[in-house]
Amino acid sequence: MPTFSIVENVDFREIRERINFRQSGCIFREIPEERIVGYNALAFAMYDKHPVTDLHALVISKRHAATFFDLFEPERRAINQLLDKLRVDILNKDALVSGFNIGMNSGSVAGQTVDHAHVHLIPRRGGDVQEPRGGVRGVIPGKAIY
Ligand code: 5GP
Repeated sequence: MPTFSIVENVDFREIRERINFRQSGCIFREIPEERIVGYNALAFAMYDKHPVTDLHALVISKRHAATFFDLFEPERRAINQLLDKLRVDILNKDALVSGFNIGMNSGSVAGQTVDHAHVHLIPRRGGDVQEPRGGVRGVIPGKAIY
């Protein structure tokens, strides 16, 4: 017996109407157009206002949804497309970038502060921290290295 099964039963007509829905009070609703560095039908990208490293970017769903897990597959694909594009742009902008952390905080206990699905793309440069080993495992202090 499988432990779960996935049945797709989504009425996409309703979703189409909600694509441009902007939740009032959401910071990502107020982003001025000039901050947007790229977009496609379902997502857009901008640089983070408080970058962890230089050129830290965010890819954000156009539809207001709380977390990555609330997105539909085409929205995830749209986000992935922008991540690929941003990665190339960042590598072209800064030859010192030689790695990335891709991160999603899902839920306030996991550190999410803006309640609208987004993915962090954090460029990494050799020597930017003393010990990079473990990367995203570092969300729990002391657990990065195993
Ligand atoms: P979270 O903590 O929800 O995963 O990430 C929210 C991100 O949004 C943070 O990295 C924060 O710096 C960024 N942020 C918050 N407000 C703004 C803003 O007004 N403009 C931009 N570009 N980024 C923002």
